[in-house]
Amino acid sequence: MVEATDRKSAAPDGSDENPKKEERRWTLADFDIGKPLGRGKFGNVYLARERKSKYVVALKVLFKNQLQQSQVEHQLRREIEIQSHLRHPNILRLYGYFYDQTRVYLILEYAARGELYKELQRCRVFGEKRAATYIASLARALMYCHEKHVIHRDIKPENLLVGMKGELKIADFGWSVHTFNRRRTMCGTLDYLPPEMVESKEHDAGVDIWSLGILCYEFLFGSPPFEAKMTSDTYKRITRVDLKFPPKPVISAAAKDLICQLLVKDSSQRLPLKQLLVHPWILANADPSGIYGSFVS
Ligand code: ATP
Ligand code: MG
Repeated sequence: MVEATDRKSAAPDGSDENPKKEERRWTLADFDIGKPLGRGKFGNVYLARERKSKYVVALKVLFKNQLQQSQVEHQLRREIEIQSHLRHPNILRLYGYFYDQTRVYLILEYAARGELYKELQRCRVFGEKRAATYIASLARALMYCHEKHVIHRDIKPENLLVGMKGELKIADFGWSVHTFNRRRTMCGTLDYLPPEMVESKEHDAGVDIWSLGILCYEFLFGSPPFEAKMTSDTYKRITRVDLKFPPKPVISAAAKDLICQLLVKDSSQRLPLKQLLVHPWILANADPSGIYGSFVS
């Protein structure tokens, strides 16, 4: 069994010590495999430890035949290409990858506290301090991505992991794009999609700002704002921005104001991330460390 306490400070590829060091070729023999961490669409994720450095990672094992059958090899290549170049405390690191005849292995940063989704299900809703801390750290991570012309396009609780100290980590760059121009591809899960994407119009980094609005609402109220039994109704509610705040739980006017400024139909009118970070609700509630440790929600 691999224990998180064995974690050392340097990355397994030595990148934290010497970023220019030549990229290493990994094989399965370099790792001790520990307990399964979860099951994904195309394979499983295991706790693992690099034998030499004793560095603890999450090893995501994908089956080539399943990737081929679903025609997602391209998407995976893009995910690897994008995620391996991003370095931010709130973005899950991808240290490297390797493959054998049947499988592809992704060497990922280990997020010790698992999925945010499960935590939200457990708590049902988050308090305003916790929600604001998460939203601010995601805004910083997305600002970093957008500066690098990367848009994530699939921000939702299922794609957020929690690190050892309680810090959020954006994972799953499967739908992200490196973009210099506007995109028209339909992707992601409906509930989190902005009007321009459900209507298959051109879209840009504004899609991630919209999804922060959805996430903020879901953190505070326990379900996404445009939820409906029928997908067609969700679609209609999104395109009309049919936003309603339930009377309970009681949420501050400042939180609602921020949500209203993010969930704006015209993507150019959504609150820029830089301004989100100085919004009164964020300033009053977010922990500047970005860490929501062992507090109660
Ligand atoms: P899906 O698309 O169905 O979400 P997936 O192929 O994207 O599946 P992941 O979501 O990446 O697979 O991984 C499956 C599960 O494994 C996650 O939900 C999470 O519980 C766990 N997991 C994945 N990566 C890590 C990690 N780096 N640290 C800790 N747990 C992880
Ligand atoms: Mg996933």
